Amino acid sequence: MGAMEDEMEPFEDDQELDNDERELLQQDLVDVQTLKSLLSPRGIKGTVFYCPDCSEDHYLTWDLLTSNLAELLSQGESPIHEPAFEPDPDEYVGWDYARGYLDGYTSYESEELAELAGRIASDLGAAGWKTSDVKGFLARVGLDGAIRPDGGGAGT
Ligand SMILES: [Zn+2]
Repeated sequence: MGAMEDEMEPFEDDQELDNDERELLQQDLVDVQTLKSLLSPRGIKGTVFYCPDCSEDHYLTWDLLTSNLAELLSQGESPIHEPAFEPDPDEYVGWDYARGYLDGYTSYESEELAELAGRIASDLGAAGWKTSDVKGFLARVGLDGAIRPDGGGAGT
C-alpha cells in the first residue's frame, strides 16, 4: 500500500527562490555580463560546467548562460540543459576560473551597472524574450532602476 507513491517524489516546494539565492543568481548574472565583456575579446566564448544530472560537461556561451540564469531567476526552476553547439573546449573556461578572474573586479559603479543591465536586456531580447518580459525580469531582480532612461524610445 502506497509503494507506488514512493516513486513519485513530491516536488519540493522550491519554486520560490529565497532572497539569498536570488541575490546570488543576480550577482552571477552581472558577473556573466562582465566576464563576457572581458573575455570575449580574448576569444573565450563561455564557460564549462560539470553537470551532475547529465554526467557530462556543459559548454555554455555567455549569452546562453545569461538567459539560463535569467530563466532561473524569473521561473525559479532549472533551465533546460542546452549545451552550446559543437563547442571548442579551448574557447571555454571553467566557472571557478572565471570567478577568480573577477576577483578584484566586483565593485560596480552605478553607471557600469546600468550598462550591464542594458546588455542583459539586449542579450535576453536576442534570446527571444519579449520586451515586456525583459522589463519585468529586470524589475524583479532589481536591475530596472539601474537602467537610465534613454530618450528617443520609439513608442510604447
Ligand atoms: Zn545537464
